[in-house]
Amino acid sequence: MGVEKTLGNNVLTTSLDKLVNWSRSRSLWPMTFGLACCAIEMMAAGAARFDLDRFGILFRASPRQSDVIIIAGTVTQKMLPVIQTVYEQMPEPKYVIAMGACACSGGIFDTYSTVQGIDQYLPVDVYIPGCPPRPEGLIYGINKLQEKIMAERNSFGSVIGFGERISS
Ligand code: SF4
Repeated sequence: MGVEKTLGNNVLTTSLDKLVNWSRSRSLWPMTFGLACCAIEMMAAGAARFDLDRFGILFRASPRQSDVIIIAGTVTQKMLPVIQTVYEQMPEPKYVIAMGACACSGGIFDTYSTVQGIDQYLPVDVYIPGCPPRPEGLIYGINKLQEKIMAERNSFGSVIGFGERISS
C-alpha cells in the first residue's frame, strides 16, 4: 500500500474487521464452569505452569462477562438445562469449546442419562478430543478458536448495526 511505502515501519494499516477480530480473539474470557474430570485439566491450564493468562484468557465468574464457554466434562441430562441457561445469559458474540470425549460425543457413557454430544444443544466452535485432553490440548483448541475468530467477516459492521457477523 502506498502509505506504507511513504511512512515505512512507523505506521500500520489494517481493516476495522481485523482490529475487532484481533481484540476479540486475544481477550477471550471463559465462563468459570466445570462438569467432571476434564475440568481438572482446564484448571491446570489456567494455573501457573500453563498460564492461560498469557493469551489474555481470564476466567470470569459470571456469564454476563464471558464470551466463551468450555464444556469440560460429562454432560448429564440433569445438568443440561443449567448449561443452556448459562449459555443464553452470555452476550454475543459467544463461542463454545467442547473439551474431551464426553462433551464431544458422550464418551464412554453411552447411557440414557448422558448427553451424547453437547453439539446437539449448543453451537460448538471447536472440539478437543481425548479422555482427558491435556492442558496443551486445550491451549491448542483455544488457538484454533482464535484462528476462527480472526477469519470472521463484517465484525465491525455487525457492531454498528450493518448486517450480521459472518463466521466460517
Ligand atoms: S472425557 Fe474422560 S476425563 Fe473428560 S470428563 Fe469424560 S471421562 Fe472424564
